[in-house]
Amino acid sequence: MDNKFPGKDISDSDLKDKFPLSSSLNKKKIVKINNDISFGGNVVPIISGPNGIENKELIFRCCEILEKNNLKLLRGQIYKPLTFPYRSEKYYELGDEGLKILEQIKKNFDVLIVSEVMEPEKLTLMNEFVDVFQIGARNMQNFPLISKTAKYKKPIILKRHFGCSIRDLLGSSEYALLEKNENIILCERGISAPHTHKSTSRFMLDIQAIPALKEYSCLPIIVDPSHACFWHEWVESLTLASLAAGAEGLMIEFHPDPRNAAVDPLQAINFQEFTNLVKKLRSIASYLNKKIL
Ligand code: PEP
Ligand code: MN
Repeated sequence: MDNKFPGKDISDSDLKDKFPLSSSLNKKKIVKINNDISFGGNVVPIISGPNGIENKELIFRCCEILEKNNLKLLRGQIYKPLTFPYRSEKYYELGDEGLKILEQIKKNFDVLIVSEVMEPEKLTLMNEFVDVFQIGARNMQNFPLISKTAKYKKPIILKRHFGCSIRDLLGSSEYALLEKNENIILCERGISAPHTHKSTSRFMLDIQAIPALKEYSCLPIIVDPSHACFWHEWVESLTLASLAAGAEGLMIEFHPDPRNAAVDPLQAINFQEFTNLVKKLRSIASYLNKKIL
């Protein structure tokens, strides 16, 4: 029976009426980033880097690690949705100052930058250096922000809010697709559950979201295990599980000195752990006939 009340269940008529462009009634989409990298096919791109660009030296070291691992997609966050409004030398985001660093990254490294947009006013400035816009979990239902970002026609990673259903997520992606931007990538990054309210499991990775989104949607689905568990010790396990469960891309946080990261110091893994993890991902990927890039 069709849904009469707003809820979590996805009915057949939702697929046709509520999110016809995002739904699995369409041909599965492949979101192309460049000639080699795309989401939704046989390539599984890894987006990696620190939580935020803290300074030029740090992000340059991170770019070197990307290059050493033959990866191309950098987490290049300069605007951050920080939970608390007070800033200090230890807790900050770069903001506008970071735009210059994005420019320097582009000049010095062959990487593609993924960066979160918080305010539509910054879109034109960011558009110069950013290859993939990220809409964070907290803005998943900021519909004007989604529509305005989509108008730039660049790929968008839309993260699922930790309290929102899959039906809600597909409502949000529909706003982007309506702007005639087909390059939308969905991201599962953990949901709230009563027993996850500990620092070692701030959110719970909804691994079922991967097959569910493939069933209901035509858009690629990636996973951010770092934000899901918030705990560096668990990142490897969740990353490997996500790939095995069909994730079409991964977002992984690393940092040269994780426990001293400016934001979310518990969730980043170090360079060595990251390099080991990429090796394991490549061996699982080859078993699945997929390629990590
Ligand atoms: C992030 O990726 O930097 C981030 C803040 O993630 P989320 O929006 O999933 O919390
Ligand atoms: Mn965070």
